[in-house]
Amino acid sequence: MEDELTFEDLDLSPEVMASLKKMGVKRPTTIQQKAIPLLMDNMSVIAKAPTGTGKTFAFGIPILEYLNMDVKFVQALIMSPTRELALQITSELKGLARNIKGFRVASLIGGQSMNVQKEKLAKKPQVIVATPGRLLDMVGRKFVDISQIYTLVLDEADEMLKMGFIRDIRQIMALTPKDKQIALFSATMPREIQDITWQFMEGAAEIDVMPKAEDHPDIDEYMLECPEKDKIGTIMRIMAKEDLKKVIVFCNTKDQTSKVGARLAANGLSAQVLHGDIGQGTRNRVMDAYRANKFDVLVATDVIARGIDVDDIEAVFNFDIPKENELYLHRIGRTARAGRSGMAFSLVAYKDRDRMDEIIRYTRSDPKPYEL
Ligand code: ADP
Ligand code: MG
Repeated sequence: MEDELTFEDLDLSPEVMASLKKMGVKRPTTIQQKAIPLLMDNMSVIAKAPTGTGKTFAFGIPILEYLNMDVKFVQALIMSPTRELALQITSELKGLARNIKGFRVASLIGGQSMNVQKEKLAKKPQVIVATPGRLLDMVGRKFVDISQIYTLVLDEADEMLKMGFIRDIRQIMALTPKDKQIALFSATMPREIQDITWQFMEGAAEIDVMPKAEDHPDIDEYMLECPEKDKIGTIMRIMAKEDLKKVIVFCNTKDQTSKVGARLAANGLSAQVLHGDIGQGTRNRVMDAYRANKFDVLVATDVIARGIDVDDIEAVFNFDIPKENELYLHRIGRTARAGRSGMAFSLVAYKDRDRMDEIIRYTRSDPKPYEL
């Protein structure tokens, strides 16, 4: 058996140790045990790790341990593919830094007022969490200077690639110091991400975290053959049978989320809809209300399939079967967070059968038939 490191073994500051204690975090996850010592040694790291294994603290802790509170420039830049994930990382960092006096973090994301973001920058944050488009826009207007950073984090790098941010990432590489530390996290390592690592991360340490029993979320996966027109009724029946109070229903398109949300509401469920065309203010309010258990069913597109962490989601429904295999894993990974268990239900209409078969082959999942 491998030696397990504790947080004490990692030589963390009393401030960070106190925050971890306050948050009830006791033992580092595998990715944290592997990445934190390397990142604290100023190594660059290429980490392949499944979702839900604690990557935010894996890069967040070393950043906080090495902040220089005496200088005024941006020292760490964290890139996120989506706005929601950027806000979540920001709030996790604030929690982790609650005992560090003078710590400031700013999020720069699309859909928010530039003036508000300029005000945050005026306070000289040491850390910035950003989505690529907005960051480059603000760098271009000289609102923010990233030319002196020590550390660049690329979180969910494969997703940034899919969203067409690969040129933006190259540009960010060029605008930041050549000798910076880079921490790249990705659930998969497609060719384009490997190109980035070869070009910009020579000599980086590679970490490959296998899904491990204690890190692997405990998700009971089910599939049901279900005619398209019966999918709403099926969700209602499963929710009643399993007594579910907090679920996500994933759809493939924005239109579909609106239709499904309206039909669930018409059937007496409290449901809210979230997709990429909804204004950022509303998106934030919906996510906050969902976290606070103000409604039961979040109907969403894949804007929130990745990275988003809400502790106590009981089940995920695939109303539409995802068009990409990996999305299946990301969607079901929204449940069973932080050591809880969860359920995932895929509603398979006749037209979805081939797609579902391919997902099962690719992801090596084994969803069981569900008897209603
Ligand atoms: P990932 O980025 O790998 O998907 P996150 O960083 O979002 O995972 O972490 C998932 C959840 O696990 C969060 O709620 C986080 O607070 C919690 N968490 C992180 N590290 C630990 C730990 N060492 N012990 C217990 N919970 C943890
Ligand atoms: Mg993450």
